[in-house]
Amino acid sequence: MPRFHVGESLMPETYWTFERLGVIEEFRRIAFTRKYGVQFVNGDGKESRAFIFSEHEPRASAMTWHVERAELDCLLFDTAAKHGADCRDMTRIIDFRLNPSGDNLHEVTLQSPDGSRHLVRTKVLVDASGQQALIANRLGLVNIDPMLKKAAIWGYFSEAERNPPVEPEVTCILHTEDKLAWFWYIPLSDGRVSVGAVGDNDYLLKAGMTPEDRFEWLRARCPGVKKRLERAALTTPLRVAKEFSYTTSQRAGDGWVLVGDAYGFIDPVYSSGVYLALKSGEWAADAIIDGLRNNDVSAQQLGRWTPQFDQGVHWIRKLVHAFYCNEFSFGAFMKQYPHYGQNLTDLLIGKVFEGDPGRIFTDLDPWMEKSKAMGHDCSMTDPMCRKDENVPDAFLC
Ligand SMILES: Cc1cc2nc3c(=O)[nH]c(=O)nc-3n(C[C@H](O)[C@H](O)[C@H](O)COP(=O)(O)OP(=O)(O)OC[C@H]3O[C@@H](n4cnc5c(N)ncnc54)[C@H](O)[C@@H]3O)c2cc1C
Repeated sequence: MPRFHVGESLMPETYWTFERLGVIEEFRRIAFTRKYGVQFVNGDGKESRAFIFSEHEPRASAMTWHVERAELDCLLFDTAAKHGADCRDMTRIIDFRLNPSGDNLHEVTLQSPDGSRHLVRTKVLVDASGQQALIANRLGLVNIDPMLKKAAIWGYFSEAERNPPVEPEVTCILHTEDKLAWFWYIPLSDGRVSVGAVGDNDYLLKAGMTPEDRFEWLRARCPGVKKRLERAALTTPLRVAKEFSYTTSQRAGDGWVLVGDAYGFIDPVYSSGVYLALKSGEWAADAIIDGLRNNDVSAQQLGRWTPQFDQGVHWIRKLVHAFYCNEFSFGAFMKQYPHYGQNLTDLLIGKVFEGDPGRIFTDLDPWMEKSKAMGHDCSMTDPMCRKDENVPDAFLC
């Protein structure tokens, strides 16, 4: 720590976990760029009116941040150490064994930077290893989401246009002309902007083209990004990630529990990753503390929060699937159903674990079916929306 990581745009509901950790003041000191909302730009370059969170949810937590993950993660690491955690940087888990001796203790082998190894025995093992998903991969619990087989190519630019007008700063989601890919555009501190292209795996990482050439090709076909990057210079190497969307079929066992990306990841489009990592971490921590107090670290106790968590994630996933259907447009739907304004806000800010966040789909699902029937059949152009018999129900939009 610090180390580079993707995931700079936060969801407003991260506020509450950060507040509980006591780091909000530190955010102000670091002066991360503020994030006031999101804006969608279509394939013709037409800018929608920015969706400003505070207009729908007037409270402190309606504003959030665009962060450099190196700094955010370092702050969280240092905060854990300050509160008494034994934090070991540059230390790898090179092996682990679940309850190898039958005494309900798990064994983890750590390797320090100098190469020395240490065995740790523990009552509770939390897998927070991100997309490495150590436990889920070892136990064969990972299911790649067949409808979200995406890839991303991204880098940081300087001298890029900031969202007009300069305030308020928002995360932009910009479609390419053919709508087969989209870009994120995230304003960071020091005038830098994180720009990333996301599309179907095979489409984005086209055989015979380097990621650099592909990025340029897509940038030229995305009017909104082309304009914003006219005078910009790439200041980092372009990075690539693929097949990052998956779920896990079991989230806790006796003495172990998964959190964050090790639990699952949906898609970058609504910037839900860090929020869900924080939320699952927080709920797992509460379950562990209660479990240790009551001498109960059973799968049921450590995973007591997962049904509620899955239900909330389900609504975000549904909205992600809607985004990838060609006929979906927030504007068109909201024009017809303006009373869902608050509901949509709740989904976009991450308020998905209370109330009835899924009620928008009562009308959104038939509305999309109707659009398809009128000839905008997304399954013709977008393989992600094809209903396939092999696709588990949880992934169907
Ligand atoms: C292309 C893309 C764009 C994204 N954009 C956004 C965004 O804008 N906003 C957002 O909220 N989210 C975004 N995300 C998601 C976000 O990056 C993740 O959801 C988030 O980082 C998950 O946090 P985590 O703590 O679970 O995992 P991580 O942040 O990945 O942390 C896991 C840690 O475990 C460590 N680790 C792994 N294996 C071992 C081992 N064997 N030994 C020791 N340590 C190990 C890693 O080094 C790492 O430090 C994006 C994801 C992708 C793929």
